[in-house]
Amino acid sequence: MATLRQKALEQLNTRETITPNKPDRPASAFFGENTFGLKQMQATLSPDAYKKVKEAISKGKKIDEESADAVAAAVKTWALAKGATHYTHWFQPLTGSTAEKHDGFFDPLDQIEKFKGSKLVQQEPDASSFPNGGIRSTFEARGYTAWDPSSPMFIIDETLCIPTIFVSYTGEALDNKAPLLKAMKAVDEAATKVCRLFDRNVSSVTPVLGVEQEYFAIDEALYHARPDLVMGGRTVFGHSPARGQQLDDHYFGSIPSRVRNFMKDFEFECLKLGIPVTTRHNEVAPSQFEVAPVFEEINIATDHNQLLMDVMGKVSEKHKLKILFHEKPFKGLNGSGKHNNWSLITNTGVNLFQPSSSARENLQFLTFFVCTIKAVDEYSKLLRASIASAGNDHRLGANEAPPAIVSVFVGSELTAVLNELEENGNIKLKKGDNMYMKLGIDKIPEIILDNTDRNRTSPFAFTGNKFEFRAVGSEANTAQPMTALNIAVAEQLTQFADAVDAEVAKGTEKRLAIINILRDYIKESKKVRFEGDGYSEEWVEEAEKRGLPNIKDTPRALHAYVTKESKALFSKHNVCNEIELDARHEIMLENYIMKIQIESRMIGDLALNHIIPTAVNYQNKLISNANGLKGLGIDNSEVVANIKKISEHIASINASVKEMIDERRRINKIEDLEEKAIAYCDDVKVKFFESIRYHVDKLELLVDDEDWPLVKYREMLFLR
Ligand code: ADP
Ligand code: MG
Repeated sequence: MATLRQKALEQLNTRETITPNKPDRPASAFFGENTFGLKQMQATLSPDAYKKVKEAISKGKKIDEESADAVAAAVKTWALAKGATHYTHWFQPLTGSTAEKHDGFFDPLDQIEKFKGSKLVQQEPDASSFPNGGIRSTFEARGYTAWDPSSPMFIIDETLCIPTIFVSYTGEALDNKAPLLKAMKAVDEAATKVCRLFDRNVSSVTPVLGVEQEYFAIDEALYHARPDLVMGGRTVFGHSPARGQQLDDHYFGSIPSRVRNFMKDFEFECLKLGIPVTTRHNEVAPSQFEVAPVFEEINIATDHNQLLMDVMGKVSEKHKLKILFHEKPFKGLNGSGKHNNWSLITNTGVNLFQPSSSARENLQFLTFFVCTIKAVDEYSKLLRASIASAGNDHRLGANEAPPAIVSVFVGSELTAVLNELEENGNIKLKKGDNMYMKLGIDKIPEIILDNTDRNRTSPFAFTGNKFEFRAVGSEANTAQPMTALNIAVAEQLTQFADAVDAEVAKGTEKRLAIINILRDYIKESKKVRFEGDGYSEEWVEEAEKRGLPNIKDTPRALHAYVTKESKALFSKHNVCNEIELDARHEIMLENYIMKIQIESRMIGDLALNHIIPTAVNYQNKLISNANGLKGLGIDNSEVVANIKKISEHIASINASVKEMIDERRRINKIEDLEEKAIAYCDDVKVKFFESIRYHVDKLELLVDDEDWPLVKYREMLFLR
């Protein structure tokens, strides 16, 4: 058998049970013990310093030097006691994942550990290695990271990590987090204003996020024997196994013990880092799993999700597993997503998407519910852009994947409520009438409580007390979709509040004004609501009739970031200026181009250096077999037919790879980035990837299993 695959499979048989680190105390005793946030500051700072820091966080104000020094001293003592030797500003550059630059606490000159407030507040990473979409060459050559005190610091690998934003010296955001914080502020302001139409006690609204993270886990040795997984995160070749997910017996089935041990281990690490992990279960596909920490403020949930992925990667090494976060590592199996459960919670503790038993609060619920649906409709292209990536293209809008149409599922009960409001909204109220009862919105809570209908095919679904943005890719940084969603909703709520004010100024009773406007919104956004099977062919046709966009690929989807409309939206809410949006757009296009380039080279190399030589060797064996049979006067026509088939597949692969290389040469000369990305998509990816794969996968079925060089699907997917 081909050596790489052979050796990998041999290692599988030598795997021993790896016991997870067992906590010796209940979780409540160690939860967050490796973090330094407000709670720890309160315990270690002077009351005065603590008050200043707390205020700075809640009002987004700058922390003065003295307080920063106090925090630095306290966190240094804490971190050293925990064995930390280094500190780093931890940030989320636009390339995805996270970045850090480590500095030692120890000062060899003075022979003591040092850490000042200025080091806590600001650091200068070597910014030249991070993408900036032309900002730095044109404007300012350097950038800096600045402490985000709203997210707790934490220790990992003896290093104190300080969550930060990353900006250029001219003030342009170069990361994912800075715009997110601003979008959160925008939705807070807009939602607070709308809440105050109903309840004067509301003074702030916090957007929250709970992330369901899907992933595949496969044996490390098998992973290393697949160059495509190592280089690009997904298998570019591989015939479907005889037993795929057809049986659906994997879902919520028992978790293999190796994976269970890994889960226990990483959950323990996560809990110490203050990441509130709870549920664990299998997903639909073999070897696919999910973890879902409890929801938190979006900023923190986003940091925690990034950290969670890091921790999973680190802990998996011990268990000789490899965690795949790619959206579609295996053809023919379900992809992986990162469901973003989102809602808005007031400072008075009310979830604005929770239907309530009070009619007044129900009108408030309906307001936020309808405004969100309208926002998704209005800004569906921006939302589509916010989840666009080379990986997610395999999960949305590809051959076997659901379409990339943004629609909202609300369930039959709420559809009925909206329909009733739309039709009966025009009622005339007499004195003494119960408006809520007349409109049928007094009885939402009962309905919701036994509303269990779920639609797993909807990209954006209402699930009882939250919206779930399910089309987000498993590898994505949640900051991008959350920035887009929060800013869209902020804009819609702002428009709503303005419209109500205008109506009231004309003398309309406030509640009637609200109802009238909601009725208009319900009508205007009706087309985005869809309750049926989002994966069906009929939906694609229906959506087209409704005029909903169906943008199938990343280069075209990303354009929504730089339209006049988006630029106006982002600058109105102070989230990104035009330069920042242009830069982001450029960076994401570059990223896309790079990914397709890498995949294309990998497909060519694997095909020419692994697959074709194997097929030729096997063909030679068949040829001598055919000759032998002929010499004995035995019918060899079947063997000859196979030799021919192999020849044809080899010829097709050779021709396609050559053509693909020529196309790459042509496209690399294109100057305009968007045009280049589109060309990579249409003329490299779409034109060649699947057709080359078709012939390779056919060869996999023809060639002797002993000789096949790549670890097969059945070997990767059914963990032992
Ligand atoms: P599912 O049934 O879709 O698997 P779960 O109830 O397990 O959903 O919750 C999934 C995620 O949604 C979790 O992270 C959970 O904390 C989060 N979640 C629950 N309620 C809310 C809410 N009101 N706002 C935001 N996220 C929420
Ligand atoms: Mg869910």
